[in-house]
Amino acid sequence: NREIHLASRPQGWPTADNFRLVETEVPTPGPGQIVVRNRFISVDPYMRGRMNDVKSYVPPFALDAPLDGGAVGEVVAGGGAGIDVGDTVLHGLGWREYALLDAGSARRVDPDLAPVTAYLSVLGMTGLTAYAGLLDVAAMRPGETVFVSGAAGAVGSMVGQIAKLRGAGRVVGSAGSPAKVARLTELGFDAAFDYHDGPVRDALKAAAPDGIDVYFDNVGGEHLEAAIGAMNLHGRAAICGMIAQYNAAEPPAAPRNLALVIGKRLTLRGFLVGDHGGLREQFVTEVAGWLREGKLSYDETIVDGIENAPEAFLGLLRGENLGKMLVRL
Ligand code: NDP
Repeated sequence: NREIHLASRPQGWPTADNFRLVETEVPTPGPGQIVVRNRFISVDPYMRGRMNDVKSYVPPFALDAPLDGGAVGEVVAGGGAGIDVGDTVLHGLGWREYALLDAGSARRVDPDLAPVTAYLSVLGMTGLTAYAGLLDVAAMRPGETVFVSGAAGAVGSMVGQIAKLRGAGRVVGSAGSPAKVARLTELGFDAAFDYHDGPVRDALKAAAPDGIDVYFDNVGGEHLEAAIGAMNLHGRAAICGMIAQYNAAEPPAAPRNLALVIGKRLTLRGFLVGDHGGLREQFVTEVAGWLREGKLSYDETIVDGIENAPEAFLGLLRGENLGKMLVRL
């Protein structure tokens, strides 16, 4: 078994030196436990926060121990809680080839219903984040104009498509390269821009001349400032992530226009997907339906080998992914 340990805590941008590849014995299950041969593991932006030794909504990763996170794989030994050898399960012990866990903490998934990667992407946590943030937190209504940042990523690409499918009047996305912008147009976004091309405020003004009603924030900073500036009266923002500042050594310079929240009566609402599990059934039914009907597309960027998991994670922070970044083991 090979697994990735946290070797040291980064200051600013993480590097390969913060990680260590460690070989251990394949674990043996105790009563009620299972051993899972992981096939795909998820790398996610929130993991950057867990590399810091600070109190947050999830505990920090421990030094000299394996990192963890979403994973799917096959049960190769043990059993319990209705899970047997041969089952495909979703669980929380990624960053390793073999995971030992209580059967009760894994969820069986059907590999014939959808490709197993979908349970980490479109039908998993990232899909639910998009669905809950847009429809519940920001309460998007048909006809509204929606702006989403990080729009070519796992969450953002779902947000834009779900907005269109639920009747948004206009959907605008921002992303970090011309290829990503082109992809957004293919996915049905009405307008998209590369935020490297100039001030976000100007690009947003051109893309949404009548203002925006909903902002789905994956980025923070200058994007959030531009969105506040562009918001119409009673606009709502679902604050999902602020990736522009995850590696920053200094506090962000923007947004500088928060006072507009008052006059425009804006709602800026932070949320965590974990609080929206009650929507899961509705989400899976609706999104699986769109997938079946060919109305929803999802991209995945797949990196091979546990030894390359740190590089996949660093690539995610640098924007090397289109859609969901996954590691195949
Ligand atoms: P993505 O697939 O969107 O990958 C991250 C993307 O962020 C990169 O591809 C990159 O794309 C973009 N990015 C990196 N640095 C910057 C920057 N300085 N400015 C603008 N964009 C940048 O990841 P996810 O879809 O998994 O996550 C998206 C966001 O949602 C993150 O902020 C994450 O923390 C948050 N999140 C929050 C959850 C919650 O419960 N609140 C749950 C899940 C995710 P590009 O090339 O466009 O720069």
